[in-house]
Amino acid sequence: MKITDIKFAKLKVPLITPFKTALRTVSDIEDVVVIIETNSGELGYGSAPATPIITGDTHKSIVAAINTAIKPIIVGEHIEDMNHIIHLVQSAIINNYSAKAAVEIAIYDLWGKLHQKPLYQLLGGGKPKLTTDITISVDNIEKMVADSMLAIDNGFDVLKIKIGKNINQDIERVKTIYQEVNNRALIRLDANQGWTAKQTVYACHQLEKAGVKLELIEQPVKADDFAGMKYVTERVLTPIMADESAFSPKQVIELIQHNAADIINIKLMKTGGISNAIKIADIAKIYNVECMIGCMLEGSIGVAAASHLAVAKANVITKIDLDGPALGQYNPVVGGVCFENANITLGAGAGLGIEKIDGLMALTD
Ligand code: MG
Repeated sequence: MKITDIKFAKLKVPLITPFKTALRTVSDIEDVVVIIETNSGELGYGSAPATPIITGDTHKSIVAAINTAIKPIIVGEHIEDMNHIIHLVQSAIINNYSAKAAVEIAIYDLWGKLHQKPLYQLLGGGKPKLTTDITISVDNIEKMVADSMLAIDNGFDVLKIKIGKNINQDIERVKTIYQEVNNRALIRLDANQGWTAKQTVYACHQLEKAGVKLELIEQPVKADDFAGMKYVTERVLTPIMADESAFSPKQVIELIQHNAADIINIKLMKTGGISNAIKIADIAKIYNVECMIGCMLEGSIGVAAASHLAVAKANVITKIDLDGPALGQYNPVVGGVCFENANITLGAGAGLGIEKIDGLMALTD
């Protein structure tokens, strides 16, 4: 199965509720779709969202990196030479993780098609079902409580609460939500780099004193504040998870060895695809550190790939934060992984199992 060309499209799905974090507000899921063509007629699908302030990637930069650096060296390669192609993709250009991720996802999709197996089975197998949490956007307390109640009514039993705007308001938000949720759901916090290390320790102590029990706090301090991550992790009982601080396998080794995180959040858009995500899961397992599998605000092609990885690495990826597709008003991808509220079910189709994608648009900008 030889790679003959790479084409692009855009996929846009309106959100049910605008997505608000400490860093941004968004109203649509918008992905660049990468379609790898082969001489056998099989198509490999990958996708990536623009996340300029997280990974530094925009739709334009993703397409440019693939067209100028990655495509010229992988066209003509055979999917049978999987490791070689992955090496070419990863060494074609530095950074540009989302571009590499979108291409790798499509390559792994083709690898599954070549071997006629769902991707998770080729990655080691597992039970093809996952249960995801749901993100509650940062907003006024009443809105956050209402969104939390609605999520619980819809069957979610883990809520990921976005905070990180203002430390004292954040503490009040969390106390109120915790009280209203009243043990009907587990609560994770994602501060999205919005606090300082000392504020995080202060917030944890205030919340502990108020009897609030949290499953974890995600990325309280700035991505490059390694010392801050370490400071917090060593001083609070609540588990601290690294998200924006953990892109590469090497960063994960450093975080774990220096006790700067208790949990690692793996996202394909940070690792540059599936190959490095596998390495991170294996590294974490060596140290008995649990992982979360997360996603950006992105649609069901990239999140399907993350789901396959999570199923195959379920012995270390114990926390699932793949609510991207469920936040959209509809799923334009037919076949493959079914996203229904908290339930993610992987199909038996080869690769990612995608049969067709409705609403693909030409890339205009
Ligand atoms: Mg996060």
